[in-house]
Parts: sequence; structure tokens; C-alpha cells
Amino acid sequence: MDLKLENITQEEMAEIQRNVFMSTLEQLKGWARSNSLWPMTFGLACCAIEMMGVGSSHYDLDRFGSFFRTSPRQSDVMIVSGTVTKKMAPVIRRLYDQMPEPKWVIAMGSCATAGGPYVKSYSVVKGVDQVVPVDIYIPGCPPNPAALIYGVNKLKEKIRYEAKTGKRVI
Ligand code: SF4
Repeated sequence: MDLKLENITQEEMAEIQRNVFMSTLEQLKGWARSNSLWPMTFGLACCAIEMMGVGSSHYDLDRFGSFFRTSPRQSDVMIVSGTVTKKMAPVIRRLYDQMPEPKWVIAMGSCATAGGPYVKSYSVVKGVDQVVPVDIYIPGCPPNPAALIYGVNKLKEKIRYEAKTGKRVI
């Protein structure tokens, strides 16, 4: 095959378009990261039961490349599932700070999103976004495991978009 551009035939060009994939390193990194998210469990109340369900054999989050970790040092996603009390808020922040960059946060359920049924309680934070930056909000009391899988997939799309555009979307 003569690889000078002016000598390439239409069939050869079609063959090249079928077989050559062009990308940037950032996009490749975004693709790899989005397909190997390791969430840190942060079960705080009833929503945590649904989060545990997503790792079980029925829903099997592992098939999307996501494996729960118990250490912030090994995690790039924090799934906050449950009621965030004012007493727990500094602990969430400290563990978030211990996660390496880049990192993302999913607020799972009404409590983590905005205080839920305890919104009038003196002891409850009205949304974990007052403590750490949140990327994905999943409504529901509680959201079921399928909703969490949907949220994880939305986060994947967001990571790829950020890698493509170079912009952080909050
Ligand atoms: S949103 Fe509902 S199910 Fe989830 S932690 Fe709050 S009260 Fe429990």
C-alpha cells in the first residue's frame, strides 16, 4: 500500500477508517477510569442495604468493572448512602480528603441528597454536598440497586465527557 495521502484509493481509505481509531491520551485515560471505578462504601443508614444489594450476585456491579473497596486510598468514588448526621460529616470529609485524585462522589437517596425525611432534624446535614462536592444525585427513599447502577453509568458518561472536554462538571 502506498501511504502517500494523494495515492490512497477510496477502498484503502475506507479500510483505514474501519481499522484506525484516533483519540487523545486524556480520552483514553477517561475511558479506562470510567470502566474501572472502585467505590468506597459509605453506608450510613437504610440506603446502605440497597447499596450492598448492588454488589450481590443478582445485580452484580462487578460486571461493570466496579469493585467495592474499604480503604479511601484504593477508591476513586465515594457512594454516600444514608443519613448524614452533623457528627458524621467531618469523618466523611476526612475520608474524602484521603482519596487520591481524580475522585467522584455519588449521593444515594433522599437523605444524602437533601436530608430526606429528617430534613427538619437539628442533627442532620441537609445534603452531603455541604460537606464534599457531589457529582451524581440519585433520588429515592431508598433508591433500588438498579437506580444505583444507572447512577454509576451516568458517572461513567460524565467522566468520559470531562476527559473529552477538559472541563470539570459539578
Ligand atoms: S433516603 Fe430513606 S431509605 Fe435512604 S437512608 Fe434516608 S430514610 Fe433511609
